[in-house]
Amino acid sequence: MMSKKHDIIVLGSGLAGMRATIEAARNPEVDVAIISKVQLMRSHSVCAEGGTAAVMRPEEGDSFELHAWDTVRGADFLCDQDVVMRFVQEMPKEILLLEHWGTPWSRRPDGRIAQRPFGGHSFDRAAFAADKTGFFEMQTLYDTLQKYDNVSRYDECYVSSILIKDNVFCGLTVWDLTSGEFFLIQGNALIIATGGACRMFGFTTYSLTATGDGLAMAYRAGLPVKDLEFVQFHPTGLVPSGILITEAARGEGGYLRNSQGERFMEKYAPDKRELAPRDIVSRSEMTEINEGRGFPGPDGLDYVHIDLRHLGANKINERLPMIREIAMKLNFIDPIYEPIPIRPAAHYFMGGIHANIDAATPIEGIWVAGEAGCGSLHGANRLGCNSTAECLTSGKIAGDNATKYVSKQKTLPPAPKEAVLKDAEARVFSRFSSDGKENAYALRKELQKTMDSNVAVYRTGSDLETALNKIKELKQRLLDIQVNDQGRIYNTDLLSALETDNLLDLAEVIAAGALARTESRGAHSRRDFPKRDDVNWLKHTLAYYTPTGPRLDYIPVNITMWQPVERKY
Ligand SMILES: Cc1cc2nc3c(=O)[nH]c(=O)nc-3n(C[C@H](O)[C@H](O)[C@H](O)COP(=O)(O)OP(=O)(O)OC[C@H]3O[C@@H](n4cnc5c(N)ncnc54)[C@H](O)[C@@H]3O)c2cc1C
Repeated sequence: MMSKKHDIIVLGSGLAGMRATIEAARNPEVDVAIISKVQLMRSHSVCAEGGTAAVMRPEEGDSFELHAWDTVRGADFLCDQDVVMRFVQEMPKEILLLEHWGTPWSRRPDGRIAQRPFGGHSFDRAAFAADKTGFFEMQTLYDTLQKYDNVSRYDECYVSSILIKDNVFCGLTVWDLTSGEFFLIQGNALIIATGGACRMFGFTTYSLTATGDGLAMAYRAGLPVKDLEFVQFHPTGLVPSGILITEAARGEGGYLRNSQGERFMEKYAPDKRELAPRDIVSRSEMTEINEGRGFPGPDGLDYVHIDLRHLGANKINERLPMIREIAMKLNFIDPIYEPIPIRPAAHYFMGGIHANIDAATPIEGIWVAGEAGCGSLHGANRLGCNSTAECLTSGKIAGDNATKYVSKQKTLPPAPKEAVLKDAEARVFSRFSSDGKENAYALRKELQKTMDSNVAVYRTGSDLETALNKIKELKQRLLDIQVNDQGRIYNTDLLSALETDNLLDLAEVIAAGALARTESRGAHSRRDFPKRDDVNWLKHTLAYYTPTGPRLDYIPVNITMWQPVERKY
C-alpha cells in the first residue's frame, strides 16, 4: 500500500485545525500535513456567526477572573478550572494575532475592535465581524496558511482509521475521494480537529459534514471519550430548516416571545432574560411549547418567536445582515417587519476526546483541538462565543506541543503491519454490498428521529432506554445496508454509510452516559432526576470502546477557585 510521511498530521481544517497547522508550520524544520474530507475552507467553522469571546477591556471593567467565573458558572461547575483560567488568559492574544493577520473585525466609532453582549457573559466580550465571524476568521487563517511551504494539503480525503501500536500513534488510513486511492500516512504526531457530531440529530444547526468521524475513530482505537452526554441545544434554530439564528440576535437586543406575545424569559431568568445561558433558554422555550404557548409547526416542530422588529432596519442591516438574508431566503420573512419562528436545535458537543490542559490525549503522539476534543473547558454547558475561541487556543497549544514533541523524535514509529492496513481498507470498501436489505439513508433518519425524541432538551430514564435499544437495533441493521455505488471515486453513497456508522457508535455513548447520570446538570436535564447532585455526580464521564458497547468510568473535576453554588440568572 502506498504510504506518505510527515512529521505532524493535522486531521481537520476548521478553525482548530487551521490554527494548529499554522502554529506547527511556524517552525520551518517541521513538515506538516493538513487533511480534510472537504475542501479546506468548507469546514463547518465558516458557519460561525456571532463572535469570539476574549477579555479586551480591563480598563472598562472586564477581567480574566470575570470571564473565567462566567465560564465556570455557565458550565454548571463541571469544567476544569485550571483549563478555564489558561483559556481566558490566552484568548486576547489570539484576537490580536487575527487582527494582525487581517480579520476585518467590526469596530467602534473610534476604530477599536467592537465587542457585543452574549448569553451568560457578564461583560460585552464577543469580538465579531458582523454576523459572519467564522467565515472571516477562517479566511484569515487560510490566507495565512499560504505563506508556509512546509505544509502539504490533503483536500477531499476521508480518514478512515487512526492506527495506534503499544500506546503510540503510528499512522492514519486515508481514502482520497477524488482519485479513489487508499493509502497510509505515517507521522510522529497527530492533532485531531474533526469537530462535533450533531448530525445524529434531525433538527440541528450543523453542516452535513458534522458526523463525529474523528471522535468515533479515536474511540474505536482505544482513546476514551469524555462527557459526551452533554449536548448543547441552541435556543434559536430556524424552523423548519434548523439553520442558526445567531445568539447575537439576542445580544443586539432581540426578544423571545410566546404565542401570547409575552417575553417569557422574564419568568425564567428575571435578571439576564434572553441572555441567560443556552441550556436555561432552551429549557424555557420547551416549557412554553409543552404548556401550549407555542405555535404549531411542521412535522411536530412547534416553535416560539424571536422578535427583532424594535431594533430597526439600520441595526439589523449593519449588525445582522446574514440573519435577515437567511430569514428572507428560507422563510420569506423580513425580520424588520416580522418575528422569526425558532426552537432549540442540536448545536454543540461539550464532550469529546479526553485531553488534559496541554491538549494531550492518553496516547503518545496524539493531541486534540477544537470541538472534537474535551479538555473540560465547557463542562456541562458552553457559553456562546467560547467555542471559536477554544478552537484558537487549543489549536495553538496542540500545534506548539506537537512541534516540541516531533523535534525530539529521530525516527518515525514502525509502519503498521500489512494485515492491519488490509483490514482498514476492507472496513471501508468491503463491508457493505449492493444487495443488502436495509436502506442506509432511512436508517440515519431513524437514528435522528430517535435522538430528537428521546435524547433532547429534556430526558427521562425510560426515553433514554428506548433510545439505547433503538441504537443497538440500528447498529445491527447497518451490517445489512445496501450501498448501490461500489466505485471508489466520489462515492458519496459509501461515505454517508461510513459516517452513519460513526454517528451510531457515538449516539450509543451519549445515551448510555445520559442514562447512567441520574442528575440534571447544564444541558443534561433529567425529568426523573431534576436536581444537580454534587455529592455523586460532580465528575467527568469517560467512555471506553468495547465490542458490546461503551464501558463507563469516572474521573474527578479539577476545582481550583470556585466551589459549586446554585446558578441564578
Ligand atoms: C451555524 C453555527 C454557528 C456558530 N457560531 C458560533 C459563534 O458565533 N461563536 C462560537 O464561538 N462558536 C460558534 N459555533 C460553534 C463553532 O463554530 C464550532 O464549534 C467550531 O467552529 C468547530 O470548529 P472545529 O475546527 O473544531 O471543527 P469544524 O469546523 O467542524 O471542522 C472539522 C474538520 O474536520 C474534517 N473532518 C471531519 N471528519 C473527517 C474525516 N473522517 N476525514 C478527514 N477530515 C475530516 C472536516 O472536513 C473539517 O475540515 C457555531 C456553530 C455553528 C454550526
